[in-house]
Parts: sequence; C-alpha cells; structure tokens
Amino acid sequence: WRLLMNDKRPSGKRKLSDAALVSLSSSSSTSPAELAEPAIKTSKPAMTAATVASKGPVQFGWQNGLKSAMQADGQALFSDDVCVIIADKYPKARHHYLVLPKRQIDSLAQLQRSDASMLKRMLAAAESFIAENNLLPKGFRFGFHAVPSMSQLHMHVISQDFVSTCLKTKKHWLSFTTEFFLDCSLLLQLLESADSSQVASTVEEPRQHRQQHLISSGRLGIRGSGHSASLAIDRAWFSSLSKAGELKCNQCARVAKNMPDLKAHLAGHERT
Ligand code: AMP
Ligand code: ZN
Repeated sequence: WRLLMNDKRPSGKRKLSDAALVSLSSSSSTSPAELAEPAIKTSKPAMTAATVASKGPVQFGWQNGLKSAMQADGQALFSDDVCVIIADKYPKARHHYLVLPKRQIDSLAQLQRSDASMLKRMLAAAESFIAENNLLPKGFRFGFHAVPSMSQLHMHVISQDFVSTCLKTKKHWLSFTTEFFLDCSLLLQLLESADSSQVASTVEEPRQHRQQHLISSGRLGIRGSGHSASLAIDRAWFSSLSKAGELKCNQCARVAKNMPDLKAHLAGHERT
C-alpha cells in the first residue's frame, strides 16, 4: 500500500480525486459534509510485466469500456501487480467501485481453480481500500454479476444504501439484490473446495441458504477436474433473474410498487 496523501491544502478543503468526484457527483443528494470528507486514498499504478489488460492495446466498443478505463491515466484509485480499483462511472449506490485483474480475463467462466489466489488478492485489495478510506461502517458487498454486460472480469464493491441517481431500472435493482449478484467469497469457496456440495458460504442466513441452492440445483458449479477446472454458470437462468422479480427492499421486507417508490423508500432508510 503506497498511499498518495500529499495534499498540502488546509484540512477540510482537500479536493476529492477526479474519479471519486465522478462517483459522488452522480449520486442523488451529495451533502457538503460528504464533499468535505477526506480524499479517497489512491496508490500509484505499478508498471510490471504482469500488466497485460491494463497496458494492452485500447479496444473499442462499449463492452470494452472497462479495459479503456483501467488503463486511462489518473483513473486507478489503487493498483498493484495483480489488480486495479477504479470508481464505477455510473454508481448504483453512494460508494461503488470496480476491482479488475490486470491479466486479461474476459469473464467468470474463464476462472479456474488456480485463479483462487488472484481472487483473494482482489478481495483483500478491496477490503483494505474500504478500510483505508474509513468506509467500513457503510456496509459493502463484494461480488460479480453472473452475466455481466462489460468485458474484462470486474468485481463490484458496492455500499448497500443504493442511493444514487444512476440506479434507474428494475434490472439495475435485481442485478445487485438477487442471486444474480455472486459474492466473491462464494466463488472462492467453490474454486477451493474439492466437493462443491460441501460449500458453506460465510454470508448470513437466508442468503447462505439461497447460495447453497444455486449449487445443489446446478445453476452454479465447477466444470472439469484438476487445476484447470473452471466455474460453470447457467447464463440463461441467471439472466432471467435480472429481468423479472419484485422490487424487494434489501434492508427490510417491504416490496415497492415501482422504481420511484423504491428510491423514496431507500432514501428513507438513510434518514433513520
Ligand atoms: P456489469 O458488466 O453488469 O457487471 O457492470 C458493468 C459496470 O461498469 C456498471 O456498474 C457500469 O456502471 C460500469 N461502467 C460502465 N462503463 C464504465 C466506465 N467507462 N468506467 C467505469 N465504470 C463503467
Ligand atoms: Zn426497506
């Protein structure tokens, strides 16, 4: 962790990094108090031979937007020899970041057992980043969309308030609050366990129950054997999860009538 905290301005007037400003400016109601929070701590990108996806040729097309973003100057909030952390350009909550491996990995289905150590490094980087920036009390989840829209593997690091103007559609909501959102800890356990029926995720009930059901029903598992065994995901089934379902609050049992109703309800949770 090499931190860039050389801002010499008087305390309270410290400017947030550009990436952090993008993240905050698209939130619905950014209070002056939040803007006065200490700048997001960043670390200089390390240039090493392992830098493949982050220093490869720029690829065009919106699906490759993350590959461009992770190699754009000044975008990395953290970087080491394994991964980069950037701010999500369209944050779906007050705090939303993406952790991307530097090695080119297009999707979850390419993850092999031997990649468990890389996933652990990504998770550790995200947890340290959140702790270093005093964001721990906000409550975060660290995970992947089962069927992502953007290329290059990316782990979402997202606070659970879901207060943001960028959270607009039912699909947005379902993709972060149903089993479509796969916790990093669950994937790690799958990759590391010899017998996937024995996987017992560390998350609390009833989510743990639902995750075990994903595995026992064959929606999520391991394909092949040995070191090259990789994650297997029932893409069609997971896609259907993000398209239809009720707008159930992630913090209480209430089901909202529509997105405006849900957003007003979520804002209410923040006030209480
Ligand atoms: P998904 O592929 O569904 O897992 O999500 C892709 C995420 O990337 C979304 O949360 C977008 O808001 C975010 N995103 C899209 N384009 C960019 C970009 N250029 N820079 C940073 N984040 C982006
Ligand atoms: Zn609620």
